[in-house]
Formats: sequence, C-alpha cells, structure tokens
Amino acid sequence: MNFIETRGNDGVKPVEVSFSEAILNPSASFGGLYVPKNLPTLKEDFLKNHINSSYKELAFDILKSFDIDIEDDLIKEALNLYDKFDDPKNPVPVIKVEENLYISELYHGPTRAFKDMALQPFGYILSSLAKKRGENYLILAATSGDTGPATLHTFKNKPNIKVACLYPEGGTSDVQRLQMVTEDGKNLKVIGIIGDFDDAQTALKNLLASKKFNEILKEKGIKLSAANSVNFGRIIFQTIYHFHSYLELVRQDEIKIGEQVNLIVPSGNFGNALGGYYAKKMGLPVKKILIASNENNVLTELIKNGRYDLRNKSLIKTTSPAMDILKSSNVERVLFDKFGAKRTKELMDSLNENNYYELTSEELKELQKDFDADFSSDEEIKKYIKEYALEKNYLMDPHTATTIKLYEKYKDEKNIAYSTAEWTKFAPTVLNALNEDNKKYSDLEALTTIAKRLHIMIPVVIEELFNKPIIHDTVVEKDDIEKEILKFLEK
Ligand SMILES: *Cc1c(COP(=O)(O)O)cnc(C)c1O
Repeated sequence: MNFIETRGNDGVKPVEVSFSEAILNPSASFGGLYVPKNLPTLKEDFLKNHINSSYKELAFDILKSFDIDIEDDLIKEALNLYDKFDDPKNPVPVIKVEENLYISELYHGPTRAFKDMALQPFGYILSSLAKKRGENYLILAATSGDTGPATLHTFKNKPNIKVACLYPEGGTSDVQRLQMVTEDGKNLKVIGIIGDFDDAQTALKNLLASKKFNEILKEKGIKLSAANSVNFGRIIFQTIYHFHSYLELVRQDEIKIGEQVNLIVPSGNFGNALGGYYAKKMGLPVKKILIASNENNVLTELIKNGRYDLRNKSLIKTTSPAMDILKSSNVERVLFDKFGAKRTKELMDSLNENNYYELTSEELKELQKDFDADFSSDEEIKKYIKEYALEKNYLMDPHTATTIKLYEKYKDEKNIAYSTAEWTKFAPTVLNALNEDNKKYSDLEALTTIAKRLHIMIPVVIEELFNKPIIHDTVVEKDDIEKEILKFLEK
C-alpha cells in the first residue's frame, strides 16, 4: 500500500510513496503528513480468528493487512521486542477497574511509558532499513520527557543511526532526565537546553528546515529524520493495541464480538487517539473515541465547538507534561480523512498564519460522530488519583487520571481507558495527590514513600537509575544547539 500527503502534492515530491520511504523521509509537501492511501478493512471474522492469538501474532496480521514494503522476517524480528516487556505473553494487560471501566496498560516496556509500544519496533525497522540501503541517518528528537528516553533506548548502538535528543533542562522529572542522561551508547547525544519544551521543539524544527544544516549533513553523507508521532511508522504500531484491548475484553468474557466499546485516550499530539480512529475505520466495533486532556484543552474545544483557537492561548505547565501541547500534530490526519487534502491545507494554513481555524457546522457534526472530549485540571487529576488508589485499589499516573471524567460521563457504556505511563515516572505528583499537599518531593523520596505505603514494588529499571553514572552533561543555550550536534557528528 502506498502513502499520500495530507496537504496535497507540490509537484516536486512523488505523488505516492512506499511505507519505507514515508518513514525514512517523513516530511511531505507543504508541511503535511503521510497517510495510507486506503485503510485496510478487517471484518468480524478477523476478530474471531484472533481470539486465541498472542499480541505478536495479532500485530503481524494487522501490519500485513496494510501491505507494507517490509519483509516478513524483519517485521517478526521487530515484534520480538515485545518479549522484553514485563509479561512477554501479554505485553498489554487490560484490568477491570470498575463495572464499565477497563484500563489498558500501555506502559510495560523498558522506559515505563506508552511511547515504547511504537518506538521499540519502529526503531528496529528504521535502523534495519537504513543499514540495508547503506544510508546514515541523524534522528532528531525534542522531548518533554517520555519520547526522549524511548527514542534513545530503541536506537542505542543501532547501526547507521545517530540520535540527538533535546530536552528542557529542569523541565522534566528526575526519572525522565536520568533515563536520558545515563543512557550509554556511542551513537547517542543528549543535550539539555536552557528553555522550555517549546524552545526545544522550535530548535528542532528550525534545524530540520535549515538549508545550511542540511547542506553540512549532506557533505557528511547523513540524512535527517524524526522519530516523533508525525512519522507514520509510529502510528501503524499504535493501531494494534486497540484491537488487542478489545479482544482482551472478549477473552475476559466482558463483551461479545461485535459489541461496541468506547476508547478513552489521554491525548497530546493525538497519535494514540488517531490509532484508535484508524482501528474504528478498519472495522473495530468502537462507538466513540473520547479525548482526555489537561488544562491545555485545545482538543476539547475543537471537538466540542469546532474551533482550533490559539490566539489567546499560551502553554500551561501541568502535572501531566506529556500532554502539554497546543499544536496537536495528528489531528491533521483526521481532518484529511474526513474533509480531504484541499480543505486540510486550507485549515492548516489558517492555523499557521492566523493561529486559528474553524470547522463548518456540518464538519463539526462529522467529527462528533467519532469523537467526544473533556479535560481535567491538576486539582481534579489529583482527586482522581487519590480516589482510585485508596478506594478502588488502582494506582494511576496523572496522564491516565485524565480519562476518569469521561468515564463518569459514559458510565453506562463499556469503556477502555488507556494508561499511558507508570506511576513511577511521576511519583512526586502522585504523592502530592495521596497526601493532599503541594510539597516539592524529590522523585526518589516520592517513589520510596509510595512503594512503602501502598506495598508495591518499584521496577528495577527505575530504581537503578539513581545509581547509574551520568554520561551526558551537556547543557547549552538555544543558539548553541547546532554547534553541539555538529561536534557530536565529528566524533
Ligand atoms: C506521549 C504521551 C501522551 C500523549 O500521547 P499522544 O499520542 O501524543 O496523544 C500521553 N501520556 C503520556 C504519558 C505520554 O508519554
């Protein structure tokens, strides 16, 4: 299957590209994104036939249905990385927490957040393709905390790949920072910048677009790519666990095949939610995809009243930092799917030029057929964490807690809510919630206090971070990022 562009074709780039081309060179005409030309259709039989499948078998068949230009053996090797998750037999456990609330835990991979679900196999496939083609790539990543560790982990010591990862110094949790700065691997460079996540992201975008930087790389024989969720290579792996979670409910005798469920998705860049939307379009019996946000509630406004309005908005720092996003990239793929390339370009141009776009009332109705949305404040998030930990014996991280408000609204229907991070990545916030205080705990203090109080274990990969040597200690001003990266490439 080939891939086309959300904002149409500029007459310079090829009109269609293969999957491998789309993931190696993810930038499309007019700043658009690559999307599959058609989505595969998976009938009810597909679900019936996979009732006894392992996660890997299900994943393999879903990937094959996209008819991608990747050899079977390579797909299988990539999927074998799920064997390193906590339970190789079931990398994504689904837990019944309330009568109609099932929490699908996407965080059982090596860096304890859901980014591993896609980045583990994606990184393997990308570096294998690069090696096969004899091409060298520099992968740039800007992170507010979870993408960085997952990207470094997946590309560590992989051939033909170098990674430069930018994070806002002081803007991540201790655990997230340690996951990055203690990561060894000669092909990795981690750079703290003096500024916030937006500064890191802007620096990255400027480098991707810089003629001079691209020229220098070209001379060195290095191509540039990105590992964020604008890359379809991540989205494709994020369709799979929606099917898996549904099948888990069937296996647990909670639903019959064909029965509809809602998917509640803590959302930032909308990659996870887009995976759910594609799964629905492919035939998974999903009633609605419910978009959960924090106080940066642009997605709630879009879905409730059709306006994407950044004119009077600035980013609010919340306790769920992975969702502190104003420009949610993957919404564009839904716009394209529903309204076509011409309209998508119009809307995205308006967002870039005026910081604003507005859907027509017909378009809004169309969007609301598939989506509903709501957001939670930091105070509400803490209230949900405490309530579920102490009364329902389920410990959630602050991102996961944003799903509860939507569950309460849709209580009478079956809901799969996604847990996108383990509590250990955001322990100080969780302890603030349990204690109902606002004290500044260190991560280590919060981790040990919570583990003792609730009689739970801290995973070894988190505990050992505090004793590992620091490998990366570069912290620079924004203007010096390019110089640092070039210095790293010289080595
Ligand atoms: C990345 C992330 C999200 C947001 O996911 P999107 O696919 O960008 O919407 C939510 N929670 C956590 C913990 C994350 O790391």
